[in-house]
Amino acid sequence: MESGRGVKRKKRRSFVIPHPPKPTAVDARPGFPPHSREMLPEIQNLLIIQDRDRKIRTLREELDGAPLERSEAEEKLAAAVRNLDAVKHKAKEIEVERKKLENGAQAKRDSIAKFQTQKFQTRKNEEFQALNNEITRYEGEIRGLEDRELEFMDQAEKVCTQVAETEQQTKAVKAQVERQLADIAAKLGALAGSLKEVETERAGLTVGVDEDLLDTFDRLFANKGEAVVPLEHETCRGCHMKVTTQTVVKVKGGREIVHCEQCGRILYLGN
Ligand SMILES: [Zn+2]
Repeated sequence: MESGRGVKRKKRRSFVIPHPPKPTAVDARPGFPPHSREMLPEIQNLLIIQDRDRKIRTLREELDGAPLERSEAEEKLAAAVRNLDAVKHKAKEIEVERKKLENGAQAKRDSIAKFQTQKFQTRKNEEFQALNNEITRYEGEIRGLEDRELEFMDQAEKVCTQVAETEQQTKAVKAQVERQLADIAAKLGALAGSLKEVETERAGLTVGVDEDLLDTFDRLFANKGEAVVPLEHETCRGCHMKVTTQTVVKVKGGREIVHCEQCGRILYLGN
């Protein structure tokens, strides 16, 4: 609801002050419109509180975003490590395949040695010839295995370079991510410090402020983003609706807290 409990209660309360407020030191504070001399001191103060609340909101948003930033950095490193593991795994597979071929060729060489022995043990011409054929066939197969082994050795050489390069890249990513994480930690510390500072300042600014008014302000700020907005060309700058003539007169009078009848925000005279 645009006119909440606090707003209604506020309307019943009298914020009429006996004399127009005198310019105070508060005018020099940041976040102040230039015409603050015609403004209720309450509104002047609320504008400063609102400025600090905006800062608090921004700081909290940045603090809330830090875990995501941190996990993104960590994921970047995890991805680099996964990539390195994959390249190393590929290198291992190539080596396993190469070794299989090497063992296969060796087994055939051992067989040939056995055939050679058998060849000189046999007296049968037919068996001698058969063994010779086997030796020739095995020698052919060994050449085939050795050719394939050479291909795997080529691949192994390439993947070995790839492993070295990926290791360098991963090392660089690790250093970068570590720097990023340190920066995030430092930023978090600075943000937390700033937040505490602004919150303390804000607490000081609310001392002496009417509780109901502050309650209304807090609710409006939380629900609408802005609690105190200028009235410009008879239009509330919060909801961009035209207000009634009566409201315009009251705001121009500068002697009471006036709410926009549409959105409930507190109005002050803008340009
Ligand atoms: Zn409004």
